Formats: sequence, C-alpha cells, structure tokens
Amino acid sequence: MTATTSPSLFLRNARLLGRMVDVAVADGRIASVTDSGAGCTPAGTDAGSGAAPAGAESIDAKGMVLFPALIDAHTHMREPGQEYKEDIASGLAAAAHGGFGAVLCMANTKPVNDDASITRDMIDTARRHWPHGPRLHPIGAATVGLKGTELAPLAELAEAGCVAFSNDGAPVPDTEMFRRCVEYAADQGKVVIDHCEDPYLAKGAHMNEGETSGRIGVKGQPDIGEALHVARDILLADYLKLPIHLAHISCRRSVELIAWAKQRGVPVTAETCPHYLLLTDKELLGYDTKAKVNPPLRTDDDVAALREAVQSGVIDILATDHAPHAAHEKETPLDEAPNGITGLDTAVALTWGLVREGVLTEADLIRLWATEPGRIFGLPVNGFNVGDPADFFLLDPEEKWVPSRGTMHSKSLNTPFLGKELVGRVKALWLGGVKVV
Ligand SMILES: [Zn+2]
Repeated sequence: MTATTSPSLFLRNARLLGRMVDVAVADGRIASVTDSGAGCTPAGTDAGSGAAPAGAESIDAKGMVLFPALIDAHTHMREPGQEYKEDIASGLAAAAHGGFGAVLCMANTKPVNDDASITRDMIDTARRHWPHGPRLHPIGAATVGLKGTELAPLAELAEAGCVAFSNDGAPVPDTEMFRRCVEYAADQGKVVIDHCEDPYLAKGAHMNEGETSGRIGVKGQPDIGEALHVARDILLADYLKLPIHLAHISCRRSVELIAWAKQRGVPVTAETCPHYLLLTDKELLGYDTKAKVNPPLRTDDDVAALREAVQSGVIDILATDHAPHAAHEKETPLDEAPNGITGLDTAVALTWGLVREGVLTEADLIRLWATEPGRIFGLPVNGFNVGDPADFFLLDPEEKWVPSRGTMHSKSLNTPFLGKELVGRVKALWLGGVKVV
C-alpha cells in the first residue's frame, strides 16, 4: 500500500517485532511498512527492498529495534511551582530521549491543577518548548486542592484538556467523595486514577513494613495498606460499573485482588513501574534515600507476583511515576527525605533489560507502554498500520550506558539506578514524522 503523497522519510532495515522492515512516512503518517528482506541478502551488502522514494530522507536503521513512541501514564512535571526539581521543558526532554511520545502529568503541582487556566498554561508551555511533542496531557485534580473534601470542576478541566483525574499523592479516604469523583469523571468520559493507600496504616512510614524495616529500625507501612484500598476501589468499580485505574501497584496482595476483579469483569485497570519489577526493600539497608518511593519497594515475593502480573495482563500497563526531587532534598536522613524516584530517562533501558532477561517480550513492551495506555486513556498509538501517526523510536539494543548527569535529561537525578550500567539506548525519536531526538 502506498500513500497519496510522496514519502518524506524512508527508514530501512529496522527490526520490528522480529521482522526486518522498511517504513515510509508521508504527511506525518505511516505510508507503508514492507519487509526489507534483509535476512536473505548476502552478508555485507546493503539489504532492503530498494532505494528510498524520490525526495525522501533515507535512514539505514540496521542493528536498531523499532518501537512505536511510548505513553507514560504517570509523571510529575513539577511545573507550575517546583521548577527547581523539574519543569515541563526538562521533563519533556527526558521523555523524548526516553522514547516517549506522550506523557500524562499528575495534578499535585503548586498550585494544584484543579483549575482550567492551569491546565491550559501547562499545555501551552509544553507546545512552546516542544512544538512537535512529546505531548503533555495533564491529569486534573479529582478534588479541590487535593484536599479530598470538595469535587474539582471536572467538566471544565476535561474541556481544557485533562485526560484523566487523580488525587495522586493524597488519596481520597472519604469513599462517598471518591464515588462522586468516579461518577463525575465518567460523565466526562474520563477515568479516575487512584493512588491506593490507607492513610492510617501508612502514617509515619518511610518504607515497606517487614523484615528489612525491622532490621534497620525504620517505621514501615504494611502491604495491606495498599491492598485494602485496592479492594475498596474494586468493589466500588463493580458496584458503579464504572472504570477506576489503580496507580503504581507494588505488592502480591493487590495483584491477587486485581486478578479476582478481572475474572469477574470488574472495569478496573492497573499499572506498575519498572522499579517494582526490579528492586526490593533491601535497597534501603544502607538508608539510601534514592530508593525511597511511595508505595515503597517491597519484597522478592512481591517482585515475582508483579512480574507474573505484567506477563499475564493482570497488570495492564507500565508507567514511570517519574517523581523528581532536588539533591538537597534527598541528601537527608531517610525519615526526612521525600518519596519518589525519576523514571523517564531510564524506563526503556530497564524494560529492555527485562526483555533481555526473558521476563517480557518485545510485544509485551509495546503492549504495556503503548497500546494499553493508549486504550485506557483514549490516546492515539502508532500500530505501524498505514495512516497511523508516524510516532516511533529506534533503540540500540546493545549499547551500554550509565545514568548520570551527562546522560540524563531530567533536572533531578534521584534514581537508585544512578551510576549502574544499563543496556539499550534510544537513538532517535520521530513524532508526527518529525525527528525530535
Ligand atoms: Zn502516587
């Protein structure tokens, strides 16, 4: 199949889900995807189905893996109000270099994004700095000031461009109020994203409650604090027959409840983050504040359960929960440090590591980071079909790199993966056919 206008870009010899393909782009869309036949040409010769169409820029992607641009459903961009940690321009730079074509950003900015003018400002700022993307999709506050007592103006926020609603960081303990959030959001055709945490069980905690917290003498929060809230949301979604998206799931108990809910057809969806698939609370044995995150890193058993859940689809998507903090905020005793780790710069390499390990497949990576987030939040995804948006990136599957100031684009470096060698690097990103990285 060919497009009606002449291609502007011709990408040759890229590996897409194990196939060698040539991709033509015209008018910002996929014009054709054809087998390049690289596997049947003699070694050392230039493989591919032929020359680039006249006028098209031709790029040889030999040795690279081709992916659709990813969607990160959970980030904190810190603008407005905390630009010393991150701003929209730097956050989108991290996203672009991380292979993301779209990011959703949480409402706990200062002031809180509970007002349509704030939503519009965020979108305008993103377009000014990154006219061709990555696209910034604000998530509106579910309640005014994230206080949990008064519903935010959800219709106005949706009209201004919010793609979902959440009280992330300050879960709504009042179930009647939360029910209204879910109902009003559904009236706008939007989903509520819930940070599942029982505020009473989590009070004063700085890590997971268990063997490690006992050993180092730090107050922990039990996994049932998350699971209780997950159970509440499942029962509510079932009763209302309305969707609820469960953010950053961290433990086996939650996974078991979500599996039960899905068997019953309850309209809940769920995400976890790469760090919950890779790290345990033992990271905190040396009181490393860079590994302090909420929900906290749990145990080996929880990691095993989450890995199974992303393989089986019980957990629908991956998200980073990119939460930048300045060095001076993290260079404190564990009980004073804020929760959160950055994720946009490292997400693809960490996930690629799971593919290399055989935990996930390339198809899983695309499902967890692109197809399903697109479906849940109603955003376009490049499925490499003719007419799809030409949003894609090339990954060097072998390149080794070390997260550091020199290699990361986020303003903040609060990640436990800092200084550790990763394999797999984003080499180029096109959005709407325009090369942005
Ligand atoms: Zn959260």
